[in-house]
Amino acid sequence: RGKRAFIAGVADDNGYGWAIAKSLAAAGAEIIVGTWVPALNIFESSLRRGKFDESRVLPDGSLMEITKVYPMDAVYDSPDDVPEDVKSNKRYAGSSKWTVKELVESVKQDFGSIDILVHSLANGPEVTKPLLETSRNGYLAAISASSYSFVSLLKEFVSIMNPGGASISLTYIASERIIPGYGGGMSSAKAALETFISSFPMFPCLIQVLAFEAGRKHKIRVNTISAGPLRSRAAKAIGFIDMMIDYSLANAPLQKELSAEEVGNAAAFLASPLASAITGAVVYVDNGLNAMGVGV
Ligand code: NAD
Repeated sequence: RGKRAFIAGVADDNGYGWAIAKSLAAAGAEIIVGTWVPALNIFESSLRRGKFDESRVLPDGSLMEITKVYPMDAVYDSPDDVPEDVKSNKRYAGSSKWTVKELVESVKQDFGSIDILVHSLANGPEVTKPLLETSRNGYLAAISASSYSFVSLLKEFVSIMNPGGASISLTYIASERIIPGYGGGMSSAKAALETFISSFPMFPCLIQVLAFEAGRKHKIRVNTISAGPLRSRAAKAIGFIDMMIDYSLANAPLQKELSAEEVGNAAAFLASPLASAITGAVVYVDNGLNAMGVGV
């Protein structure tokens, strides 16, 4: 049978999650997705009403099928962790079993196992604030939603992932270099997600530790893609995405706009047997911008 992929963090057809789903579908994988609870209704109804049909078209002309959409909130591991105000919030009350443990239990009941786990989500409530104006709660919320959420998802999914499986997360160069405007602790959250500190190459990073543990225990590979700028919903909320795209166009070795599909294709490669010896890696899919030391 084909491989089965769970992609966490798809709520429209503009982001990296959608593009990764398409590349995996084009390569023959079955697609199931996890959608943030507050965005679930609009995503599902748009999907039903055919709003995404144009962007569902695969290279062979067929339409990508999403076998199932699960509600999720990666900030909560089990129902005990959910505060009352969230439980009673009407956007949440309409859905059930959206904490990480319950989600994985539902996927297990419905499908038995998966082969590929993609983490394509991030959230920083104070992302537009400089770090020096960020509150403790805002900072910790960014780390919880954008970094620990990957540990939590992998931790629960690994028990139903087939040996030889792969997981992929997405990171951003702001973890290693100063990107003014990427605030609210989001740069720290990405650093905590990948911790690829180039000046300390001996420093083991989260991706490497997870690659070691999941590799030894479950024969699962763990890699992360450091993606260049894309005009996704999340990126537009940060407020400087057009500037970052222009900057890349002007300064990267490859002077073209990065398409989400290019990141999707790299993810499909990393998830495939073609990458069977690659684990613990940070792969840059950014037209080479990371290699520049100065704008030109
Ligand atoms: P996106 O808006 O398509 O994806 C972010 C998703 O996270 C959304 O679907 C949102 O609903 C979901 N989400 C937020 N909080 C959540 C929670 N608590 N539980 C579950 N889901 C939650 O935007 P994107 O830019 O494609 O982001 C995908 C990944 O790519 C992120 O990790 C992002 O940091 C990374 N990335 C983006 C860029 C860029 O320029 N767009 C560059 C490098 C890396």
